[in-house]
Amino acid sequence: MSQSLIAPIDKEIKLADFDPNYKGGYKRKRDVEGKLRKIINKIIELQELLYSENNNALLLVLQAMDAGGKDGTIKHVMGAVNPQGCDVKNFKVPSAEETAHDFLWRYHMAAPRKGKIVIFNRSYYEDVLVVRVHNLVPKSVWGKRYQHINDFEQMLVENGTTILKFYLHISKDEQKKRFEDRLNRADKHWKFSDADLREREYWDQYMEAFETVLNKCNTKIAPWHIVPANNKWYRDLVIGKTVVTALEKLKMKYPEPERDFSDIEIKD
Ligand code: AMP
Ligand code: MG
Repeated sequence: MSQSLIAPIDKEIKLADFDPNYKGGYKRKRDVEGKLRKIINKIIELQELLYSENNNALLLVLQAMDAGGKDGTIKHVMGAVNPQGCDVKNFKVPSAEETAHDFLWRYHMAAPRKGKIVIFNRSYYEDVLVVRVHNLVPKSVWGKRYQHINDFEQMLVENGTTILKFYLHISKDEQKKRFEDRLNRADKHWKFSDADLREREYWDQYMEAFETVLNKCNTKIAPWHIVPANNKWYRDLVIGKTVVTALEKLKMKYPEPERDFSDIEIKD
């Protein structure tokens, strides 16, 4: 089984080849807790730089099946980042106004400006996932969206946005466990909806739709990261590391002072 975390560009991707249980040689959460803390501190530091330099933007795209860990990733990997510099945008069923526009409109409006990080909890990929699985628009419409998405992402990248796309890969068994957990814990009941069970019946169709996305929208400028996500702590480690690497690549620097401050004296 392949454990590659970045989807290969030149090979057809089959999700069955990726093990959702993969733990990168670690055994348990305790093995990575220290590492994860360091990674989070580094993200905090790099976000401060991104904000002050005001030159680049970072877009994180999170996609997964229900209970795949999108909310948990945001909380545990990005939760400590200065809220001034980071927005989270959750995309639900489009409103009447959103539906009256082209499908990318609402996402483009929410994309990060320079200096900012934006996290998409679900994204324009829903328009070729749930929309495809349930035929919410005809194939002649959703079929053209893969190219629209590639063009949109290219435009954002050329405008100074780094795009990190994560598919949180869980197994059908793991989803069952997580739903059971939501049913068994009063403090998690709010997370459960009957719709989750209905969607679970379409598991295979979703896997097919995800596979198409991972093959058609896997570009050099915005590749997919297939994250083994049955173990939450390994998922957080992988995503955290990927964010750090991407931000470090930007080689950011704090802006130069407007002038030489050495002659400034602050009076009592
Ligand atoms: P949740 O993220 O669990 O709060 O649920 C959001 C719901 O909105 C999910 O059931 C998604 O399938 C649905 N959704 C998100 N984007 C779209 C879209 N573009 N078209 C239709 N349904 C969507
Ligand atoms: Mg949900």
